[in-house]
Amino acid sequence: MIESSPLRFVPGHVAPENPGPNPRLFAFLGRELLVTSENLLPSVTAIDGLGIEATRTQYLGAWDQQHCYSAELPGDFKPPEGFATKDLRMLFGALEPELHALAGRAVQIVEWDRTHQFCGACGEQTEVSSTDRSRSCPDCAIPMYPRLSPAMIVAVERGDEILLGRSHNFPPGIFSVLAGFVEPGESAEEAVIREVYEETRITVEDVRYFGSQAWPFPNSLMLGFRARYARGSVDTDHDDEMESADFFHVNELPPMFPGKISISQWLLEDFVRRHSPDRDAAEKGREKG
Ligand SMILES: [Zn+2]
Repeated sequence: MIESSPLRFVPGHVAPENPGPNPRLFAFLGRELLVTSENLLPSVTAIDGLGIEATRTQYLGAWDQQHCYSAELPGDFKPPEGFATKDLRMLFGALEPELHALAGRAVQIVEWDRTHQFCGACGEQTEVSSTDRSRSCPDCAIPMYPRLSPAMIVAVERGDEILLGRSHNFPPGIFSVLAGFVEPGESAEEAVIREVYEETRITVEDVRYFGSQAWPFPNSLMLGFRARYARGSVDTDHDDEMESADFFHVNELPPMFPGKISISQWLLEDFVRRHSPDRDAAEKGREKG
């Protein structure tokens, strides 16, 4: 019996006695997912047919009443004809978004399981917990959970302008909203104020939560914010990562990463919607509609 939930996916850590008629399996070679040559998730029967012995498997939970598992493929695995292994970044748009998110969850659990077989303090072999998604050391009793790194991402607005920057590793000409990791002991709002100042010397105020996105590259939880410009002039000279940054008017935005897959793009879309000159007409249209 699979527990009901308001969410489509019900996480679990203890595998059921019977996996049911058609379980889902996310099999990874390193961080790459095994898919068919059409970029679809292969059925368990198809994977079974390959006769591979997984290095480790994990139970994930149930999605649409189907039990889901992840597996670590052996390092020397070569996908046979009709199959491929792909980085999840290449599968945005190919897998439906919720299934893609589940694959992102799966890769992080596979990676956590692989890298926590031994205690980091004493080197003893760890044991899997029956009460939650953790492993622990029988000697030190140190629990080890999947690693999750909170990061903030922010749309800084100054009237009809938005603060965008580009780091050295972006493709040429591409800009994005600012982002950075939350440090220990810091609130996400404090991280917003610190990161924006560190990267651009701009001080912001009125920091407001926008929404979040799990971002498994490799294990981030992106916390989105909007913030208002308070004072300062853009200066990126002191920051090694930032190549340049500036305020851009809503009608003169620079090239950005294509698509609508990430929270950086949702923040920008939200900014454009609220600052577009057609906004009033569009909103009136909706009210009539
Ligand atoms: Zn230990």
